[in-house]
Amino acid sequence: MMLILLGAPGAGKGTQAELICQRLHIPAISTGNILREALKSGTELGQKAKTFMDAGNLVPDDVVIDMLKERIAQPDCKDGFILDGFPRTIPQAEALDAMGVVIDRVIDIEVPDEKIVTRMSGRRVCEKCGASYHLVYNPPKVEGVCDKCAGALVQRKDDNAETVRDRLTVYHNQTEPLKSYYAAQGKLFEVNGDRDVEVISADILKELEG
Ligand code: AMP
Repeated sequence: MMLILLGAPGAGKGTQAELICQRLHIPAISTGNILREALKSGTELGQKAKTFMDAGNLVPDDVVIDMLKERIAQPDCKDGFILDGFPRTIPQAEALDAMGVVIDRVIDIEVPDEKIVTRMSGRRVCEKCGASYHLVYNPPKVEGVCDKCAGALVQRKDDNAETVRDRLTVYHNQTEPLKSYYAAQGKLFEVNGDRDVEVISADILKELEG
């Protein structure tokens, strides 16, 4: 199954991607995580992406499209995958189509902007494996420690209130038009993301598994 998770930054895409991944046994691919890894290891890709990411802007389409193409060519993607954070623009969606990727379902997690800004302050990510948590909505079993790999949980540099507002503007201008793009293809499933993680996940899995 080929799935896309849409939604504003902080809507809970990463958490839901991990839950779907565990249930359907297909990899969750986060372009944000791949870029953060590249940044950490100081590769050319990381250097190219840094200024855009720090400012809350999108990394240029050609850079992320090439990166994604390479990732989905890996053997673990042969039975499907969940895309978290890609596509983020209409040209990225068109590039997916041009690669011959036939998307089954696009899950749009809806959270009002005013909730996003407060939610982001509680978000923590594992610096080792990228798993995401929330101090209130999805806390780890042991404070500051990743349940999955025991890595340290940290706050992302671009999760400060000012950058989050910029990322929301970018989301509304450049990513939100994808809702109509996929609705026109009859693939969009909208879910209320302003609820408990488990309740949202149950709705999504019901939609996917029937
Ligand atoms: P995320 O972890 O998905 O919130 O992504 C963090 C940052 O990585 C974004 O604010 C962008 O700067 C960059 N990024 C991730 N995915 C994409 C994409 N599909 N297109 C452009 N930039 C991206």
